Amino acid sequence: MDGRPYIGRFAPSPSGHLHFGSLIAAVASFCDAKSNHGTWLLRIENLDPPREVEGCADDILRTLEGFGLVWDNVVQYQSKRHHLYNSALHKLKGLGMTFECACSRKDLATVGGLDFYPGTCRNGISHYKEEKSIRFQVSKSFIENVTYDDLVQGSQNMLKSALGDFILRRADGYFAYHLAVVIDDAEQGITNIVRGADLMDSTPRHLLLQDALSFKSPLYAHIPLAYNIMEDKLSKSTKAFPIQIQNAPNQIYDALKFLGQSEVGIDSPENMLSQAIHQWDISKVPKSSNTYWT
Ligand code: GLU
Repeated sequence: MDGRPYIGRFAPSPSGHLHFGSLIAAVASFCDAKSNHGTWLLRIENLDPPREVEGCADDILRTLEGFGLVWDNVVQYQSKRHHLYNSALHKLKGLGMTFECACSRKDLATVGGLDFYPGTCRNGISHYKEEKSIRFQVSKSFIENVTYDDLVQGSQNMLKSALGDFILRRADGYFAYHLAVVIDDAEQGITNIVRGADLMDSTPRHLLLQDALSFKSPLYAHIPLAYNIMEDKLSKSTKAFPIQIQNAPNQIYDALKFLGQSEVGIDSPENMLSQAIHQWDISKVPKSSNTYWT
């Protein structure tokens, strides 16, 4: 901790209902915040209207309440924060750290896939196209080696050169997750991020953006993912079964077990969580898990 009061958050995207994987992230970030006498904020990451499922954001709020995962302060919605993303984008442009890109997914697929942007438009757009995305030019960052100590996964190290220039604003005009999440976490004073290990690939990009924008980086803890037995895929799949309020005690029990915490007796969600906060020990969270859940 860097002396700032602990502020944590849970930041679901309303592209699907909460499932067991999201419950684990919610319980872990909630217990970590509360056991550190911190604040736990809720942010609905509705940046991508085409992927948003109608009614899902409200359903997420009701489900969290039904599980006793009650947030502090008012819920923030990314859809109402575009002005913040715009001004950060201007700042990055002013610093000479962005460039326009006219490549479509198809263009990039022909030069070796989307995982690593090959730099096609870095020195000027490759061909005329009305709708262009804006990318962060990773080579302009002063950081060479992206390092951080993950509170669950241990020390992490990634060469900047292993990251492609990533998108800040998409060609369709929507802001990209990487930009919005970094701005929101900084603007909301988030000190600790506890989230699923599927986002570990994103963290080095977030650290570069935080450095470029002179933001203090939060501490990170990436918790292992639960696999979905039906899909045999990461439970982040929107097809994973939604969690049900009537099963809350059993599912909280399973989530705490998955997180390696001391056993909590079946009781009301509120009582179970208050015992879990009391016993919470982040050092017991396993680095990985191959547990399957339905
Ligand atoms: N909105 C992201 C998701 O639902 C989580 C973002 C984050 O925790 O940084 O996967």
